[in-house]
Amino acid sequence: MKNIKTKQSNIALALHGGAGKYVKSEQDAQIEHLHSVAAQGHCMLMDGSTALDVVEALAILLEDAGLYVAGKGTGPNSAGEYELDACIMDGHSRSVGAVAALKGYKNPVRVARCVMEHTPHVMLAGRGAETFAALQNCAPVEKPLEYYILHGVTRLPHELDTGTIGVVARDSQGRLAAATSTGGLLGKMAGRVGDSPLPGAGCWADERVAVSCTGQGEFFIKAATAADVSARMAYAKTPLKAAAKAALKDMQKQGGYGGVIALGSTGQPTMPFTSQGMRRAWIDKAGTIKVDV
Ligand code: ASP
Repeated sequence: MKNIKTKQSNIALALHGGAGKYVKSEQDAQIEHLHSVAAQGHCMLMDGSTALDVVEALAILLEDAGLYVAGKGTGPNSAGEYELDACIMDGHSRSVGAVAALKGYKNPVRVARCVMEHTPHVMLAGRGAETFAALQNCAPVEKPLEYYILHGVTRLPHELDTGTIGVVARDSQGRLAAATSTGGLLGKMAGRVGDSPLPGAGCWADERVAVSCTGQGEFFIKAATAADVSARMAYAKTPLKAAAKAALKDMQKQGGYGGVIALGSTGQPTMPFTSQGMRRAWIDKAGTIKVDV
């Protein structure tokens, strides 16, 4: 009994539905949805699921919701097409898989996990990723104009908002995992790839920390934000909360805004952001699900 309690007390979870502007009309549905997704993640972790399975399952729920700029909620790029990016990483084994500029598949995070498990590579992009996704029987989007919620966005990328999804989890064995999935910046140039699918920029997990980022991807790439959190913890012995804050500050210095969720090998997650808001949910010390925007 004691052993079970100790193991359950290891578990931790945080998720985000993107950083950006506070849109009051969208908040209620997002808050309710984030709460229910976190509750499902909590149950999975309590039942002994691995952190890797939890981050994938929850990322799929977030992609399917149509409430965030990921999966179904992705907006068209400047060519009117839907190109999605995702990454999933297992901190215990350092296995990682990613897809970039993927068209025609509902769950980029599923394809990313297939890349991780069924190829010798880390990332597949564009046509090659799509051929691979078909071979792996990943669910296709048959009719983009019926499936995706947002159509005909004509604004320029620099005017536009963010809204990626991400999940970090620690399981009963203390293993960490992270997943990030996005439709990218609304109205982005065709072929543009942001930080979300790049291990070390928008997603990272190792034995110390699991990180998922959201915000203006170009700046997270320049600052290597996700890996920077881990590096600060490893080399400067900076505690998690201060490491995440400092990494985000360095990204901000490059000119961008956004936020991170980060979870260490012990304790609670930290979720700093420099944007007006960041949709997020987590399990607190008492095992209660919290949501904030
Ligand atoms: N970081 C994502 C990107 O630049 C956008 C976001 O977080 O919403 O593609």
